[in-house]
Amino acid sequence: MTIFEKIAAREISAQIVWEDDEVMAFHDVDPKAPVHVLIVPKRVIPRLAESADTDQALLGKLLLTTRIVAEKLDLLTSGYRVVINNGPDAGESVPHLHVHVLGKRPLTWPPG
Ligand code: AMP
Repeated sequence: MTIFEKIAAREISAQIVWEDDEVMAFHDVDPKAPVHVLIVPKRVIPRLAESADTDQALLGKLLLTTRIVAEKLDLLTSGYRVVINNGPDAGESVPHLHVHVLGKRPLTWPPG
């Protein structure tokens, strides 16, 4: 099981922001911004590069869930960044697809 599957199974605790039967959103344990939430599909896709055409609806749902998180955590006016790290050069550390939502501080561009 991935660490995020364990969170979904309540074997590891997390500060959950939102959840339904397909996805869950919870606060990152090592936040890089005042708001740093991860949105994770309950069905494991290891990373974006290993997604399939049949994952289209689930991938869309992950992005639509960023709006729910932004509404819940008051990011709609100030703005927020959505990040997916894919593979070693991007710094991916958990092989279970997840979308980062970062906000509540100005974020520099380009990222490091
Ligand atoms: P990435 O580097 O894109 O693979 O992101 C993995 C993220 O998962 C990192 O930001 C970690 O801080 C976060 N993370 C790892 N373990 C946990 C956990 N138990 N609860 C919440 N976030 C976690």
